[in-house]
Amino acid sequence: MNSHRLAAELRKIFPEDRIITGELERRIYNYDSSFMARFHNFMPDAVVLPRSTAEVSATLRLASEHKIPVVPRGAGSGETCGCLALRGGIVLDLSSWDTIEEVDSANMQVIARPGVVHYKLNKHLAEYGLFFPPDPGSTRMCTIGGMVANNSSGLRAIKYGTTEQYVLGLEVVLAGGQVIQTGGVKCKALKNVSGLNLTKLFVGSEGILGVITKVRLRVWPRPRARGIAMACFADLNEAPAAVLDVYRAGIMPSGIEVLDASAIRAINLYRPEINLPSSEAILLFEVDGNPASVEWEGRQIAEIIGKRAFSVEWATDPDRMTDLWRGRSVVAVAAARLRPDGSRIFAGEDISVPLDRVTEALRKIKELSQKHDVPVVNYGHIGDGNVHTAPVINLNSPEEVGRANKLVDDIHRLSIELNGTTTGEHGVGAVRNQYAWAEHGEAVNIMRRIKKALDPDNIMNPGKLLPAEGDTGGV
Ligand SMILES: Cc1cc2nc3c(=O)[nH]c(=O)nc-3n(C[C@H](O)[C@H](O)[C@H](O)COP(=O)(O)OP(=O)(O)OC[C@H]3O[C@@H](n4cnc5c(N)ncnc54)[C@H](O)[C@@H]3O)c2cc1C
Repeated sequence: MNSHRLAAELRKIFPEDRIITGELERRIYNYDSSFMARFHNFMPDAVVLPRSTAEVSATLRLASEHKIPVVPRGAGSGETCGCLALRGGIVLDLSSWDTIEEVDSANMQVIARPGVVHYKLNKHLAEYGLFFPPDPGSTRMCTIGGMVANNSSGLRAIKYGTTEQYVLGLEVVLAGGQVIQTGGVKCKALKNVSGLNLTKLFVGSEGILGVITKVRLRVWPRPRARGIAMACFADLNEAPAAVLDVYRAGIMPSGIEVLDASAIRAINLYRPEINLPSSEAILLFEVDGNPASVEWEGRQIAEIIGKRAFSVEWATDPDRMTDLWRGRSVVAVAAARLRPDGSRIFAGEDISVPLDRVTEALRKIKELSQKHDVPVVNYGHIGDGNVHTAPVINLNSPEEVGRANKLVDDIHRLSIELNGTTTGEHGVGAVRNQYAWAEHGEAVNIMRRIKKALDPDNIMNPGKLLPAEGDTGGV
């Protein structure tokens, strides 16, 4: 269908002010937060801003009839080109559909439309003494729809888990326009094992199976107290060992973060006043709960890790906690300071490895960084083995970009070699689907059959999550 006809058809569904067809405005939708997006042109033919299930359903009906690709989009904070229109078509920008429909505090749940921003949801829930625990670093940008589609999480995943643990039910519009409810049509129960678990199927499906138009989330009581312990280690090996000591003592912190020597250097270059002690690793333990248990657990942690660290500090004073956390909070930006012409790229940034292989992963990433002559800063959620790797390159040098791509490929392969995964949080999109066979083997064919059953014409976010059509992975 040509672009004029497409625009005319979309005008039958949407008012003029919620359809974008102008080239300049469509250009905004050519980007997400990934490195790859810089080097490609993924312009949609049209963008629409739905605010009702009926509008999404009518768009998918139209798209199915004419086999037009449809790409759901939240805030575009994804790191994988997930919300970009690889094959043109229609982008559904769901970010303005941001109603919190119900806070059902008596039943510890909330119902929200897909465009609600994570930070705003938690701000609203705070009025009820509640919170939605997954905590991505992109909290002020990312939408609940995007979080569900990517099964997002953050530094508190070790204690609270990922988004999937909180999704009780979804409204989803399928290719063809059919609307279904998962988790029970009228169900408000917190536990439900009735039927196949379709909710889990759609969580993390990255927009390739349908459009999420409503989310029913379980929420938790907001913890009353918080404390932070910071420890510095002369030997990198001691850091994961200290984490294990804490677990073995029966304590589950709400977050355990690592900064390695490269990250410490970058932070001190970026903000000299933070002045982190020179060390091979710094660990930050966060504990939350009621004031008495926080104090007890914090002191226990300080004592346990003090046997391996050369310095430990435990704080519950809000200002001091902010000080201790300052280095971690700026590391993503600080990474670029490793070199004067440097930019931090989001590529190979999200591997996750078993806990007992974190040190090996960090050491091997350092070797790979030397092999490809690309500086790398490492930090991340050591408590669950999710390492954030930040290559720093001169974006104006095609030769360096080429070396960075090789480094990133090696980092992804390393994660699989270490019995981990190429992505612990950010997802696959169009940047990690080439590793699907190595990660999932024959299960890729089952994924393809599920996709085919729900989307026979492959209009839903084509080119993402699954390997390219002809790629049989040698199986
Ligand atoms: C600075 C920064 C920090 C980050 N920190 C974290 C972190 O700590 N943890 C983490 O997990 N991620 C993190 N991310 C990645 C990103 O923010 C998350 O993946 C987030 O959940 C994406 O939400 P979004 O609304 O921006 O989705 P988008 O980027 O717009 O889309 C992401 C994917 O979801 C699909 N999608 C979006 N909405 C829907 C819908 N309603 N129905 C179906 N599919 C949909 C899209 O098609 C795409 O495949 C970070 C990103 C940045 C830039």
